[in-house]
Amino acid sequence: MIVAVASGKGGTGKTTVATSLAMVLGNRAQILDCDVEEPNCHILLKPTILTTDAVNLPVPSVDLQKCTLCGKCGEVCQFSAIVPIGKTVIAFPELCHGCGACSMLCPEKAIQEVPRNLGVVETGMAGPLEFVQGRIRIGEAMAPPLIRAVKTQISGDKFAILDAPPGASCPVITTVKGSDFVIMVTEPTPFGLNDLEIAVEAIQGLGIPMGIVINRSDIGDSGVKDFCRNKGLPLLMEIPHHRRIAEGYAKGAPLIESMPEYADKFKKLTDDISMIIGIPSKGSSL
Ligand code: SF4
Ligand code: SF4
Repeated sequence: MIVAVASGKGGTGKTTVATSLAMVLGNRAQILDCDVEEPNCHILLKPTILTTDAVNLPVPSVDLQKCTLCGKCGEVCQFSAIVPIGKTVIAFPELCHGCGACSMLCPEKAIQEVPRNLGVVETGMAGPLEFVQGRIRIGEAMAPPLIRAVKTQISGDKFAILDAPPGASCPVITTVKGSDFVIMVTEPTPFGLNDLEIAVEAIQGLGIPMGIVINRSDIGDSGVKDFCRNKGLPLLMEIPHHRRIAEGYAKGAPLIESMPEYADKFKKLTDDISMIIGIPSKGSSL
């Protein structure tokens, strides 16, 4: 089973939920940090990293000696990442999505693909838990191919928890696509509600079942609960604002370490998700 943990905005407690959910499943789970621009699961889980692999994107390099300036590469590229201008052809590797169409269609075989580094995928262990994270190269903006590389590490026989980037943009959709369920973590404030509405609308387009976890549930107003009721979204868990959680987080401790009584609530969360989607959690006895 693949469960993505997402949020409409940063700072809602998404990583707190993802790490505690993975920890209660232990060796039956793996956690994959897909928030490649700011991976934070490692701060709470303190994994031992065992492998680090570079992730590269093939981008075009044009041999102007062979190029006849036919213009076909510019026509086929949907991202304006290769542009014939005057008597030359200019490639913009930072815009390239690595689809390979230009080199395939160049009649003169004037385009070679060269690797552009996007970042790394690291794998390791956090106690009994399998750990995977992507880290984007500083200055790089092309997160989706790196997220896809992280997701190739999903093992079909475990309960995969994906920590998604915050928001509702392309990296979020790349992360949650193919998941069996999405947990949306939010706060009961007008800002939380606004960002939740946008994210829910984006993810609903994918047809993936969703449920809500409200963090710091004893602040703010009833707007998020009203929204859940109106949309028919199950409210899966409420986590009140608690000094021990905040102190633990500041020390880099996962929620279920600061508040062990929450372990049962997270186990119940996996049961509830299994029941909603109607399939037993693979690799889990829950
Ligand atoms: S398709 Fe090939 S030959 Fe045509 S403009 Fe592009 S690089 Fe040059
Ligand atoms: S590989 Fe694809 S995205 Fe990149 S320049 Fe060529 S056509 Fe454009």
